[in-house]
Amino acid sequence: MKTHPEDQLTAYIDKELGEEERGAVENHLKECPACRTLVEEILDMQQQLVTSYSGVGAPRNIEWQVMQAIDGQGEASSIGWKGLTVSLAGLLALLAWVIAGSPWMTILLIMAKSAGVLAYGILGSLAAIPALTASMAVLCLIILLLSVYFLRRLLRTAALQGGGTS
Ligand SMILES: [Zn+2]
Repeated sequence: MKTHPEDQLTAYIDKELGEEERGAVENHLKECPACRTLVEEILDMQQQLVTSYSGVGAPRNIEWQVMQAIDGQGEASSIGWKGLTVSLAGLLALLAWVIAGSPWMTILLIMAKSAGVLAYGILGSLAAIPALTASMAVLCLIILLLSVYFLRRLLRTAALQGGGTS
């Protein structure tokens, strides 16, 4: 075989060639250092693929470690309320983001962040006591409603000001 069987090398490595083709490629590899190098490079690439693919499994372990850390922080009932608080803080931040561009954005963002951090801090210290979890939920709701109320007021004020100048 005078021509290099480059297109057959991958099939040769994957053992997909017939006996005749396989024998021809093996004979060529004995005489051709260039193709032997190519085969080694393909094998290296496949090894790297396997290595990087097995690395994809790492986040699963990280996720498990995070869950273990959360479990260690307190009883199961308090985790739900902590998650709720984080969700509320995210919602407030989203509300602030929605009206981005208005002059009130900075004020609202600070207000939303403060409410979220405050609620989270209170829950973090008290949520472990089951009797208080219900009132914590009410507090979260009040903070959310107040934030929405002020947001609407500020938006209306901003809209009125915008209409007056045009
Ligand atoms: Zn060759």
